[in-house]
Amino acid sequence: MNLEDIKVAKKLLSKEQKIVIIPHKNPDGDAIGSTLGLWHYLNNHGLQATIVSPNDYPGFLKWMPGNDKIVNFESDSIGAKKLIEEATLIFTLDFNHLGRIGQLQPLLEEASATFIMIDHHQEPSDYAKIMYSDVSMSSTCEMVYNFIEFLGDLDKITPEIANCIYTGIMTDTGSFKYSSTTSRTHTVVSKLIELGANNTMIHNKVFNTNSPSKLHLLGCALKNMVILQEYGTAYITLSQEELDTYEYKKGDTEGIVNYGLTLEGIQLAVIFIENKEEKIIKISFRSEGDFSVNEFARKYFQGGGHNNAAGGKSDGSLEETTSYFRKLLEQYKDELIA
Ligand code: 5GP
Ligand code: MN
Repeated sequence: MNLEDIKVAKKLLSKEQKIVIIPHKNPDGDAIGSTLGLWHYLNNHGLQATIVSPNDYPGFLKWMPGNDKIVNFESDSIGAKKLIEEATLIFTLDFNHLGRIGQLQPLLEEASATFIMIDHHQEPSDYAKIMYSDVSMSSTCEMVYNFIEFLGDLDKITPEIANCIYTGIMTDTGSFKYSSTTSRTHTVVSKLIELGANNTMIHNKVFNTNSPSKLHLLGCALKNMVILQEYGTAYITLSQEELDTYEYKKGDTEGIVNYGLTLEGIQLAVIFIENKEEKIIKISFRSEGDFSVNEFARKYFQGGGHNNAAGGKSDGSLEETTSYFRKLLEQYKDELIA
């Protein structure tokens, strides 16, 4: 953030405001951690703020302090709409364009509030008065920490804030192992622990609350894995029927895509998940090295994300989607086995 933006942000936050904070649709640990971290900070500052989520999110994120105050648009659309219409200041966190917030998109497009974006995705849209956008950042949570630092308020980080921010940094860096993890990320995490983040508790809450059916679904996914060694690619499919068999709940498939990358010689891992209700195949892409799944998802699957982690969707059937995907691989063969 440049000095001018910091000045403007300070001024905006020194006035009475009706603030709404928005994470992306299907919020992950970084989206919920950053919105809640910022929410606690603003509240403690005496500002009136509410988080409005486009839809529900996994149970392993619901332990975070303040979770019960999040308004879910899907279960309270009237309340959410009112909050957005009356807002004077809207923070959008962990997404780069309004197409990432599902049904909230038209409401935000019509909102009269001033916008502040905090995000680390590529090619951000230009809708915010203050755009704190930095693709080199590990996570939006790390950026919320920076934002609080820019405002000169690091000493105002409470254990609640520290726990929320730690969570998003941890989940978005794959527990501090992705290439986006910098020495600065570790410095921030170290400060957060000093400020009261309980790292062991957070790891347990996020990773050690599996249900038997979730592990059985993982078993099914791994069994379904197709390994295309000659293309440096491994992909997994999960049909709606399989999800139903294993009593799928939101979040149960989180992280499964990464298993493909643990195979030697595999640079591209993909999971295709059928969603009968939305009539789409939701896709997650992960890569190692230079292959940009952001570009790939953007070009062929109505999506995007980061160079090594992106998402998208397809309107065809599971079979049609995977066969289209396999055809596409042909032209990337050289890149994928390099
Ligand atoms: P995941 O595969 O974990 O859902 O998402 C990986 C990354 O891609 C995240 O940064 C996420 O925000 C982004 N992403 C996931 N799905 C989509 C999508 O449909 N469109 C775009 N633009 N980004 C996505
Ligand atoms: Mn993120």
